[in-house]
Amino acid sequence: MFDSPAKLLCHLIEHSFEGMGGTFKCPVCFTVFVQANKLQQHIFAVHGQEDKIYDCSQCPQKFFFQTELQVLLTKTHQA
Ligand SMILES: [Zn+2]
Ligand SMILES: [Zn+2]
Repeated sequence: MFDSPAKLLCHLIEHSFEGMGGTFKCPVCFTVFVQANKLQQHIFAVHGQEDKIYDCSQCPQKFFFQTELQVLLTKTHQA
């Protein structure tokens, strides 16, 4: 399995919109969709957010949730 939750999160988010074998995973609840726009709708409908609005100040990654950004900052960008 993944040795680090942050790595797993980054991995899922990075690939959720590029398509992993033609599927898109919700970075929050891991529900799988076959279309990126369905995932987008799901995140808005279920998790109440329309777009990735949290920018990491130290790399180009963007996140749907502040908690995800927090995980990245804590686990990945920690000195
Ligand atoms: Zn979800
Ligand atoms: Zn970052």
